[in-house]
Amino acid sequence: MKSEADKILCGPVQYLKSVGPKRAEAFKKIGIITVKDLLFYFPSRHLDRTTTLNSLKAFNYLINGYAGELTIIAKVADKEKLRFRKKELFKVQMRDSTGFFECIWFQGIKYFESVFNEGDIFAISGKPALSKYNNLQFTHPDFDKITEEESYNFLNTGKIIPFYRIPKELKITNVGDLSLRRIINFAVENYAGHLEETLPEEIIIQNNLIGICDAVRNFHFPLNKEKLQSAVARFKFEEAFYLEILVALRKNNYKSKLTGNALKVKTSLIHDFLKILPFGLTDSQLKVLSEIRKDMEEPVPMNRLLQGDVGSGKTIVALIAMLIAVDNGYQAVLMAPTEILADQHAKNITKLMKSLSEVYKIREIRVSLLLGGQKKSVKEKNLKDIELNEADIVIGTHALFEEQVRFKKLGLVVVDEQHRFGVAQRASLIGKGITPDVIVMSATPIPRTLTMTVYGDLDVSVINEMPKNRKSIKTLIRGEGNLPDIYKYIVDKRKEGYQSYIVYPLVEESEKLELKAAQTYYDELKKTYFKNISLGLIHGRMSWQAKEEAMMLFLAKKFDVLIATTVIEVGIDIPDANIILINDAHRFGLSQLHQLRGRVGRSSKQAYCILVTKDEYIAKRGNYELNLEYLSQTQLEKYKSAVRLSSMAKYSDGFKIAEMDLKLRGPGDIFGTQQSGFPELKHINLIEDVDIIVSAKKSAFDLIGKDPRLIENFNQVIRKNIIERYSNSLRYAKIA
Ligand code: ADP
Ligand code: MG
Repeated sequence: MKSEADKILCGPVQYLKSVGPKRAEAFKKIGIITVKDLLFYFPSRHLDRTTTLNSLKAFNYLINGYAGELTIIAKVADKEKLRFRKKELFKVQMRDSTGFFECIWFQGIKYFESVFNEGDIFAISGKPALSKYNNLQFTHPDFDKITEEESYNFLNTGKIIPFYRIPKELKITNVGDLSLRRIINFAVENYAGHLEETLPEEIIIQNNLIGICDAVRNFHFPLNKEKLQSAVARFKFEEAFYLEILVALRKNNYKSKLTGNALKVKTSLIHDFLKILPFGLTDSQLKVLSEIRKDMEEPVPMNRLLQGDVGSGKTIVALIAMLIAVDNGYQAVLMAPTEILADQHAKNITKLMKSLSEVYKIREIRVSLLLGGQKKSVKEKNLKDIELNEADIVIGTHALFEEQVRFKKLGLVVVDEQHRFGVAQRASLIGKGITPDVIVMSATPIPRTLTMTVYGDLDVSVINEMPKNRKSIKTLIRGEGNLPDIYKYIVDKRKEGYQSYIVYPLVEESEKLELKAAQTYYDELKKTYFKNISLGLIHGRMSWQAKEEAMMLFLAKKFDVLIATTVIEVGIDIPDANIILINDAHRFGLSQLHQLRGRVGRSSKQAYCILVTKDEYIAKRGNYELNLEYLSQTQLEKYKSAVRLSSMAKYSDGFKIAEMDLKLRGPGDIFGTQQSGFPELKHINLIEDVDIIVSAKKSAFDLIGKDPRLIENFNQVIRKNIIERYSNSLRYAKIA
């Protein structure tokens, strides 16, 4: 049954003042159908008093060296079209009570001519400069039209003015800044008061939030800055809260509905195993192991994320967990993102298991490798082994998810480099009727806000320490002109036993992108710079057998240099490969570069990562220390490639890199969120809003802890909103 208020709010926008059928149709195209939709069409920004100046002040700032963004409110005094070096130019002269300034445009002149009319008032925003005649001048600034009254109130009463994105669908029905503000103002004045609260009262009180009506009003037309902040804070909280409710439901679903195996840990096996390792575990590895062990002993299934920077030694930790499962008579699975990595894991683990049984005269733990391209007979035997529990440890790629693999007694699943796997795949594992313990491992350091949200249903263990023998990798940025010298260096270093990777972005020459191709350069380098040393090639188009062979030969030092595409990006462990040269480095993402760099520096020798780019500008900029922390979002955009490279040179810590990566990608494009089954974030900024997420998480988890099925009366509002807004995300988080 719909309440009266709901009826009004759910009515069409068409009947609002100055909308009508044409504009209603346009609103519909951008997803605004009802009055309520319109009330939640929030401003993209507000005119901010703190950076608003008059033209005289702005001029004085500028001649004193200020170079940032600012806003001036002024009236159009004059406009003219000029010719400048054969090109047209449009100039508007703006005037306020202290003086005048100019705005110029080189493009879209027709449009701007129609927008700027004498006497109109605009808020002009941008980075001004001084013109040839020493006038204050904005080039292609942002501008927003405001009324005389708004300008008066803004300048004299501190009222804040909202600005909305106006998509072209609206523009063609003549909706501009002023008219949209008027329409929304009308809706807010008359209908915002009818909105129903979307959070339980207790949550609002506990977290010191303002109510929904107040929040909507002040998001649009804030009484003052504090009110605006409270409105923004409320919507951020609400968004984080519902996200965390979903996370809590997901986690609850996993933990409570499913029973797992309670394993017994016999310390003797682990002690024996540790003794055959050529190194001792780091404190971090030991701490993580004890967390995993505790989980495995519990009858509730483990669901744990193991984070550790590239090279921190996650594999050995996972292997020990697998041994615990096997020791209890269960099978363990290790899933890798690529075939060569699966192959490498299988070889290393088989070797370790052999020596374990030889040294201690115990039964050999059987390792089975399952890959897509295997011969039918081999594969059939492997599948049979698995079914009959003849295989203790099964290693494969994520194709394992799809295969008709029937485990006799599956106790533990380890997923290596989890950021490659979607939540859906994880869910499919869980859905197989059995509930094994799960460890997902990731070298991509996941910022805390993400482990609380997207990965929030997992418990987290972190290896935050590198094995002691490591030197930090030297990272250099070079232009292509330096390549001959780098090649010579690679040949030289061979005498000290160094092997090198040379990485190219693509397999075959692509005319479109003009990127380098491994095959072409392999052929060329073999004839020139590297004619006296041995050269290998690996790329994605090769069969896995051919890839395996190339990796084996490289490991056995039959190749000095391996020419490769990004197939070697993840996990590959060749201790003597200590130089990696990455071509067209500016094309790679930051976390990808960090992964690639992680291929070297896996022994006690000094390792080098050389990032080569054909863009001399980037090469120069990258080496020149950009003060990354102080770049604005716009500057970051501009210098993205240079910033990526200089971040690599500056930071070796994967967490720093991830933070930078997040900053560069912006909150809209967070890795993992698209495939995570979570709703898109509108208000929360995953970089800045840690505190809000922490308190929203606490509230949500407390609530689900007390009322896991959302049956209490006062929680019906949550149930209603989840169904209304987040039904897509419910797939993995069932409610009663
Ligand atoms: P990642 O965490 O990137 O998966 P790996 O598990 O591949 O790292 O380990 C990287 C290398 O470090 C391997 O050669 C591994 O044998 C070695 N290693 C692991 N733990 C230690 C340790 N505690 N001391 C020294 N070397 C270690
Ligand atoms: Mg690894």
